[in-house]
Amino acid sequence: MSDAARLAALLRGSRSAVALTGAGISVPSGIPDFRSPQTGVWANVDPMAVAHIDAFNRDPVAFWGFYGQRFALLDGKEPNGAHRALAALEAAGRLRTVITQNIDGLHAAAGSRDIVEVHGSVAVSRCSRCGDEYPLADVRARLAADPEGVPRCDCGAPLRPGVVLFGELLPTAAIDRAMELAARADLLLCVGSSLVVHPVAGLPELTLAAGGRVAIVTQSATPFDRHAAVRLGGDVEEELEAVMAAL
Ligand code: ZN
Repeated sequence: MSDAARLAALLRGSRSAVALTGAGISVPSGIPDFRSPQTGVWANVDPMAVAHIDAFNRDPVAFWGFYGQRFALLDGKEPNGAHRALAALEAAGRLRTVITQNIDGLHAAAGSRDIVEVHGSVAVSRCSRCGDEYPLADVRARLAADPEGVPRCDCGAPLRPGVVLFGELLPTAAIDRAMELAARADLLLCVGSSLVVHPVAGLPELTLAAGGRVAIVTQSATPFDRHAAVRLGGDVEEELEAVMAAL
C-alpha cells in the first residue's frame, strides 16, 4: 500500500481528525514562507524586527513599508489543491477543523468552515486607537490612497493588521481551542509545517499523549517524523491530491 493510501485509510478510520497547517501549504499558491530567509522580498529585511509591535508603535510608516509588501504579495492569490483537499475532507465529515499558522485566508477561500487561526489573519485590520475594524479590501484602498502608505482609520490613527505581530502574545482563545482539539483528535494531520514554532509545535505532543496518531505531509524534516504514523515528504498539493484519490 502506498503512503498516500495509508493516510487515506487513517482518515477513513478516524472520527475526530484535525488538520494543522503551516506556510508550506500556501507555497504552491505562490506565497513564500517569509521565515525562509532566502526568498525574494524578505531577503534584505529581518521580519522579526520590522514586523514587530514595537516597530509599528515607533514608526508606522516604516512598518507599513514592509507590511504593505506582504499585503501586495497576497493580492490575487488563490487556494491550491492542498487547501481544497482539506475543505473537501471537512465537507465529507472526515475532518473537524483546520488549525493554521497562516494569515493568508486561503483556507476560508477554499471552503473550509471551521478554522482556528492561531496567528490571526489579514482579513481584518483594526485601529490602533479606537479599535474600529476594516476589511482587507478597504485596508488596501486606504493603503494605496495615503500619501505615507499608512492605512488610517476614519479617526486618523494608523490601522494595524489583525495578525499577531512579533513581540505580541498569541490570542488565548484560539490557542486554548487548538490545544483542546489536538488533545481530542484521534488523528492530527500536519501539512506544510516544520512544527518548530511554538505553541503549534506542542500540539502533536498533545495528540500523541492522549493516544491519537500524527500524520505529516511536509517536505522539511520535523521533530515528530519518527512518531508519525504516516510521513509524506513530496509536494503538499500532489501528496494530498493522491490521498483524496485513494480515499
Ligand atoms: Zn480609529
